[in-house]
Formats: sequence, structure tokens, C-alpha cells
Amino acid sequence: MKVIIVGGVAGGASCAARLRRLDEKAEIIMVERGPYVSYANCGLPYHIGGVIEKESSLLVSSEAMFRAMFAVDARTGCEAIKISPDKKTVDLRNVATGEVTNESYDKLVLSPGAVTVRPPLPGIDLPGIFQVRTVPDARAIREWLERGSLFLAGMHKYSGFQTVRPKTRAVVIGGGFIGLETAENLVHRGFDVTLVEMLDQVLAPLDREMARIVEGYLERHGMRLALNDGVSGFKQSANGSLEVLTKSGKVYPADIVILSLGVRPDTALAKAAGLEIGERGGIRVDDQMRTSDPDIFAVGDAIEVKDFVTGQWSLIALAGPANRQGRIAADVIAGRDSRFRGTQGTSIIGLFGAAAAWTGASEKTLNRVGDKDFEKIYLYPNSHAGYYPGARPIAMKVLFRKSDGRLLGAQALGEDNVDKRISALAMAIQMGATIYDLEEAELCYSPQFGSAKDPVNFAGMVAAGVLRGDMPIRHWESAGQEFLLDVREPVELAVEQAPRTVNIPLGQLRARLGELPRNKEILVICRSGQRAYYAQRMLLQNGFKARNLSGGMLSRYHVQLLVN
Ligand SMILES: Cc1cc2nc3c(=O)[nH]c(=O)nc-3n(C[C@H](O)[C@H](O)[C@H](O)COP(=O)(O)OP(=O)(O)OC[C@H]3O[C@@H](n4cnc5c(N)ncnc54)[C@H](O)[C@@H]3O)c2cc1C
Repeated sequence: MKVIIVGGVAGGASCAARLRRLDEKAEIIMVERGPYVSYANCGLPYHIGGVIEKESSLLVSSEAMFRAMFAVDARTGCEAIKISPDKKTVDLRNVATGEVTNESYDKLVLSPGAVTVRPPLPGIDLPGIFQVRTVPDARAIREWLERGSLFLAGMHKYSGFQTVRPKTRAVVIGGGFIGLETAENLVHRGFDVTLVEMLDQVLAPLDREMARIVEGYLERHGMRLALNDGVSGFKQSANGSLEVLTKSGKVYPADIVILSLGVRPDTALAKAAGLEIGERGGIRVDDQMRTSDPDIFAVGDAIEVKDFVTGQWSLIALAGPANRQGRIAADVIAGRDSRFRGTQGTSIIGLFGAAAAWTGASEKTLNRVGDKDFEKIYLYPNSHAGYYPGARPIAMKVLFRKSDGRLLGAQALGEDNVDKRISALAMAIQMGATIYDLEEAELCYSPQFGSAKDPVNFAGMVAAGVLRGDMPIRHWESAGQEFLLDVREPVELAVEQAPRTVNIPLGQLRARLGELPRNKEILVICRSGQRAYYAQRMLLQNGFKARNLSGGMLSRYHVQLLVN
């Protein structure tokens, strides 16, 4: 069997290596139009920042290794330019010489990835404007940064005297993963960084109130955010530096501009070959990665995938799914019955020592698809036992089905061990687990790693409390004219207090129940929701109508930012 794989990085390379492990006899050709196969594009922002010092560290594999270890005919600088599905052939162009050859295949795998969005804005091709997609992109950025800017420009014309000053101002356009990672790395390199984002939040998959926490964190670390503003063009000023012009009329000076406006599936070859393209613009495949042509498979950023939670088609450009899909395509080609389960969009980004991570559906996604059968909770557990040094709160939002408790999605932000919580929840979602399962999950514990009730258990307990009726909740955005009872200590009120609240500290509540109304719903508030829960249990058992304001004052702060 002869298999041609187009694209030699995440999906393509994992398909090639897996196929060889399953079929020693197959002839495998992997073509890559760029100069490298199987390189670590996820590491590019960190190479720009100097965290990954050597470019060679990003080249995790090579053409020669694919040949030697897997007997894969890996060809870099080789572009697939045309597929003829009826003849089962592909035209391949040698990028250096332009020579075109024709190869036949029994099975073809497409893993061409995505193309960077690059709108035709005035000045977009000016020197100093870069994207971060490939190793040569990162190299060009590093060279540009290291060259510095001409200082006292023009002096040399008269005196031969010319100075170079370091570049210091960066504008990053786009607040997604790659934009934020690159922006952080530029801050570490001493840049004054402005992030311009057209949406009203960074990290679009997060719900807005959770993104607000990230934004606050970025600003505290010196990044300037210009949200709700799109770029309208670029200009070069007299001294050679750049100006970024925005739709709101603002002008941001820059020594370097990073374009990170997102990606879209690279479907050029597939379209020309007449393969079905889905409603979201990606190559349509079945759960065995087969396209509308049974001998052509497609994987990675180029395809549409089924969202595991909503069941809708979506585009997810992530390395994990691309690798798994490459492996599944290889399995199926080798005669195995592997199937892709769909994607949850499980993601994480590290920023200035903190992490934001999420999995499954967000609240806005559930609203967009018209799902009304869900509830959400906010909680702020410690990353490990509070008495052990280094514990940090994790801000968590968990979404679950009201009717049966099935876990639908989770988002978490914090400075310690966010990843393991979202990874555990991601696994739970994929196994169809409920919040009741989270209550029972048996997770690693000793004080430096977690708590006897891990944040994952805790999320289950809180959510189950809501569904069992032990802890009716309300959210800040829907709080109206109810009686607001704040059970924090008076000293805490000095930090912040919601209007119209009556303060009865938890320790005094039993003795002061007579001060509370019996004919009105009471919304109970504390800092994070925990003391409010204790108070609420007391009130409910004494015949009051009490609800917990989920997430307490901590979630109020972020929800309030949405309203104002
Ligand atoms: C800077 C950066 C950081 C990232 N960070 C993360 C991260 O932290 N976590 C995460 O999950 N994901 C991350 N990603 C996304 C992840 O890298 C992609 O989702 C993944 O690589 C997709 O795999 P793929 O095989 O579909 O495409 P790619 O890995 O992009 O490979 C496609 C390859 O196909 C080649 N190609 C295209 N057309 C042709 C053709 N006609 N002929 C020959 N070759 C062709 C391209 O040159 C390209 O090298 C990051 C991406 C970038 C760019």
C-alpha cells in the first residue's frame, strides 16, 4: 500500500510514525512544503522570548530521522499542488527548483494545518510587521529585535555617526493564545507591550467574566490592553518606526508589530479536489477522519470536528486533537476500527506565572446553541491545603446540566496547579461524568499537592448541593430586590461592600435570626460563597427562603465589570 501524507508537522508526522508502527510494508511518503518536519510550533513564542534559547531545540525531529527510524520518505521543500482523486495521484512541486512530479497513492492523508488570517489592511506588508507561525517567522522576529532601531536617524548622512537603540515598543494584534504568549514573551524581553483586540475580551473561548480576571492579571504585569478596537492600518513614521492605526482613531507607536488575528483551515487543495467542505469552512470528515472521498483522509487544523459537548461542528486548532486524529487516520488505513470522539477544546495558557485553562462548553456557547438546561457555579478553592506554604486560590467556573448533573464545561485561572484540575475535569467530561461523580473522585492528596477535598471534589460538592436543593443559588447578574445578607466579618466590609446589604457575621447569625425577614427571599453573601453556604443551611433549616450568591464578593467583582 502506498500512502502519501501532505503536511509534516503535528497531524501529518504523527500519522506517518503511527502508520509505520502498524504496517512495516507500507510505502509512506510525507511531503512538507516548509523547511522542517515535526517541529515544535507551540514553542515559538518562547523562542522569541529567549526562554527556549536555541532554535535547534524546536526541531524535535528531522527528515533524516523519519527516514532512518520509520522508513518514511520525508520530503521537505515539497509542496502538494494538485490532487486528482479520479486517478488517485498528487502533483508535487519542488519548492526550490519548481520541478513538478506526479505520485500515485492508494490512500492520501491531508494535514495541511491552518493559514494565518492576514486582512489586506493598508501598510500590512511594512517591515517590522510579523506573524508567529513557523520557525523562519520566529527567526525573522529575533533578528529584527536584535538589530535594534536606528537612533538619531539621518545623522550618519552628515557625520557618518549612527547609533542603534534597542527596540522597546511592541504592539500585538489579537488576544488569542499566540498573541498573548508572544506578548508575554516580549514583556519579559523588556518591551512596552500594547495588545489590540477587536473583541471586548481576550481569550475568546473563556466566558467574559473569567477573561476579565486574565485581563486584570495582564495589566498588573504591565501590559496595556486596547479592547473593543480593531486595527485599520499601519504607517511608517519618518524615523522608520511603525504606527498602528485603529478604527477608534487611536495611534499606537511600535518598533515591532505582531499579527495574531487567528487562523482558518487551509482547505485550498481539498476544495480544488472537490472534497466536501463543512459549514464552518473546514474539511468535512467522519469519525474515522475520512473525507467525502473514501481514499482521502484529513486531520488537524484543516478539518471540522464535532464538539464533544454540543455535538455541533466546530473548528479547533490545537495540537492534541491534531496528533490524535493523525494516529486515528493511520489506524484506519491499517485496518483498525479507531474513532475520534470529538473535541472538547481543552486548552491552557501560561501568563506571567499564572495559568488560564478550560475544557468543554462555555456559558456563551451554551447560550449560542440555545441550551437552557444548564447551571453554573463559581468557586475559589485553594490550590492545596491552605496551611502549607504556597497555596493560591483558583478561580473556577463549572457548568453542568440541571436535569441530570452531567458536567458540560469548566474554566479555571490561578497561579498554582490549574492544569491538573482542568485535566481531571476534561477527562470527566469525556467519560460523560456528572457532578456527582466529581464528588466521589479519588484524587492525589498530600498538603503540598491538594486538599483532602480537592478543588475537583469541591466543585462537585457545590454543584451537587445546588441540584439537590441543599444550596439554592442566585447569580449577581440576576440579583434584584431580595434581602441581601452579608455574613462576613466587619473588617472585611472595609475592603468592599455591595450596596443595600445587611451585615450579620456568621458567628452571630444564630442569635440574630429575628432580624431577618420571613416573607422575602434572602441572598446570602460572603467572600467566596463558603460561609454563605453555612449561613444558608442555618437559615433554610429555620424556615427562611435563602439563596447563596454564587462565588460571593469575588465573583461580584468580575460580573460587575461586565455591567459597568
Ligand atoms: C505559535 C503557535 C503556538 C501554538 N501553541 C499551541 C499550544 O500551546 N497548544 C496547542 O494545543 N496548540 C498550539 N498551537 C496549535 C498547534 O500547533 C496546531 O493546532 C497543530 O500544529 C495543527 O496540526 P496540523 O498538522 O493540522 O497543522 P500544522 O502542524 O500546522 O502542520 C501543517 C503543515 O502542512 C504544511 N503544508 C500545508 N499545505 C501543504 C502542501 N500543499 N504541501 C506540503 N505541505 C503543506 C505546512 O507547511 C505545515 O508545516 C500553536 C500554534 C502556533 C503556530
